[in-house]
Amino acid sequence: MRPMTSETVRGAQGTLEIVDVVDSWTKPVPDLDPVSTTYFRAAHDGTLLIQHCPACGTRQHYPRLVCRHCAATPEWEAASGLGTVYTFTVVRQAGMPGFQDGPYVIALIDLDEGPRMMGNITDSPVDDVRIGARVQAYQLRIADGIGLPQWRLAAVSAPNA
Ligand SMILES: [Zn+2]
Repeated sequence: MRPMTSETVRGAQGTLEIVDVVDSWTKPVPDLDPVSTTYFRAAHDGTLLIQHCPACGTRQHYPRLVCRHCAATPEWEAASGLGTVYTFTVVRQAGMPGFQDGPYVIALIDLDEGPRMMGNITDSPVDDVRIGARVQAYQLRIADGIGLPQWRLAAVSAPNA
């Protein structure tokens, strides 16, 4: 596997499913900076990165130059891609070009490793999403060198009772 940067990445890499939509992506593409480039490139290659502070142990997301607790330089760590829905909302009105494919779910996900991150929960009816539901990350490859973490419900929900 080609190195993402000269920095050390802890844990397994490239373990998440990748869905390639480069040819059909019409939504905005993230602006990259030296920190986020590592994150989005790893996502492109099937890894969900978080940061881990070697000085104090804090894990954080979104990626930053420094640890939010002690200001040491954080290291990259591959997350498992498993998490739990902390909260979510269902977007039913398209407010911007490229977002007419709703309704869709925007959720705050508590990663098993600790950090909380925002993402979409896809591939299930929006009414099946619940606070506390287990979710599994996959990576949406949206452009050359850029992936976006997305989520699916980890277990098939019972049919609507
Ligand atoms: Zn720290």
